[in-house]
Amino acid sequence: MYEQMKSEADKIWNARSNSIHPIISVGISASSVSVGAGRTLARIQEEVQQKYSEVIVEEVGDIGFSWADPVVHITMPGTPQITYGNISEDIVEQFLADILVDSNLRSDLSLGVAGGGEFKGINPLENQPWMIHQKRIIMENYGYTIPQNLSHYISNGGMEALDKALNSMTPEEVIEEVKNSDLRGRGGALFPTGVKWSFMQNAPEGDKYLAINAEEGDPGAFTDVSIIENDPYKLLEGMLIASYAMGCNKSFIHVRAEYQLAVERLTEAVKSLEEHNLVGDNILGSGFSHEIEVDATGHAYICGEETALMESLEGKRGAPRPRPPFPAGYGIFGRPTNINNVKTISYVPTVIKIGHKEFKNIGAESASGTALLSLSGHINRRGVAEIPVGLNLSTVIDDIGGGSSDINGIKALQCGGPLGGIMSSEEMNMPTDFQGMSLKGSPLGSGGIMVVSNSSCIVSLVKNIAEFNEDESCGKCFPCRKGTTHIVQILKNIVEGYGNQSDLSKLNDIGESMVAGSLCGLGQLAPGVLKNALKYFSEEFNEHIDEKKCAAGVCGKLA
Ligand code: SF4
Repeated sequence: MYEQMKSEADKIWNARSNSIHPIISVGISASSVSVGAGRTLARIQEEVQQKYSEVIVEEVGDIGFSWADPVVHITMPGTPQITYGNISEDIVEQFLADILVDSNLRSDLSLGVAGGGEFKGINPLENQPWMIHQKRIIMENYGYTIPQNLSHYISNGGMEALDKALNSMTPEEVIEEVKNSDLRGRGGALFPTGVKWSFMQNAPEGDKYLAINAEEGDPGAFTDVSIIENDPYKLLEGMLIASYAMGCNKSFIHVRAEYQLAVERLTEAVKSLEEHNLVGDNILGSGFSHEIEVDATGHAYICGEETALMESLEGKRGAPRPRPPFPAGYGIFGRPTNINNVKTISYVPTVIKIGHKEFKNIGAESASGTALLSLSGHINRRGVAEIPVGLNLSTVIDDIGGGSSDINGIKALQCGGPLGGIMSSEEMNMPTDFQGMSLKGSPLGSGGIMVVSNSSCIVSLVKNIAEFNEDESCGKCFPCRKGTTHIVQILKNIVEGYGNQSDLSKLNDIGESMVAGSLCGLGQLAPGVLKNALKYFSEEFNEHIDEKKCAAGVCGKLA
């Protein structure tokens, strides 16, 4: 069944690849649309309709270069695809005329050539500084395929792992392969994925569920939404393999409704899997049946906590449940449930396809595979990057990210979102890995790295993060409800010039109480950024308190 599907998909993909007509592909994502990619696409369609009727225009996924959006790829018949950046609607007319009429490849706007070779003076995309250090596993199709096109996915190797798992491996063998690959949860906890799946093996007969956590509400984190927008089948294939291994008959994807494009593409992709018998009864003739439900939910950061996510999926207010019982024993509607992060599950097709040995060769001893990073803040090349775990952090910031966007340079990295930490830029010469960065007080968490320049005020930044945590605390338990509020009040006093030295010990005491007494990770981790800011940037707090001065000139009353 899979072979027939693959052969039909290949026909469609090959017809596109060998097209006798030029193909213009525009990278469309929520991020690219926010800087005009939708207008660029519309302008290209208008030009093509009026002047170049033989040209094919299509909407592909985003390649991850938010810094270069709108990104446009052009493939002329018989030549490799060339990627261009910053193609705003106002230059479309001239840009198309240069390329389509005058055969001027506009190397001034090009970002590189796909396929590995140089072409007429334009360098291979893979050799550019922003790509050469990347290792794209989850992102392999980004920018090249139409995200909702199942044929594009299958022809580029998709569903091969699903076929292998369903038709030549037992569920126990799949779990063993994932265990041996040392794939660890990418939501931040790094728990071994295969071990977590094995908790479901002895669950009682009856309904068993897989729930995907696509809440991703952290400021500065956008990798999960980028996977769903740019290659939803990668996640869906991983979910099907995981569900087969654990014996789950139904999956839920908990995704913010405000991620409209992600919800749209995901819903369309699930529908297409149903139409091709890749979701439903007797998938690929294996006897395995499975149903997938996309749950577009309200915005609540706390629903990224797994027990709150289950409450939300049951239609209740998103607030954590005490543990035990654990989800593998008593989960959604009281049934055994496994909850995994989008990134973790999106690695699964690759683990099954290439095998645990090859997968373990990628990355570092502390964690195999890659890390998807959201690069934001004062950095020249913002966007999504995928690196082998362990790549030097300076290489990430300087080569992939293009260094500081502020002439004053980089002061700090705020990593892992509002429940992560902060580190000084002096610590950047270290591997980008999960354990080492945690030891420096700035856990990588789910991959958010926000670059903070020397023009920023750390006290003000910490206050903003504390306000986010205060807003998002669900209020169920006292240490977090009162602690987050009290921290914000003290930090507000400091940035307004009313702070005193005793405030610093109060902040420490409140943080310790929250860590010790909060019910869930939000309260337990919320003091992390503050704690590390007090460690690495104590002089800034002292300056605000003792000299009533904000050297960065950010805190209005102290500037
Ligand atoms: Fe709610 Fe905070 Fe308590 Fe978690 S720690 S249950 S978010 S009040």
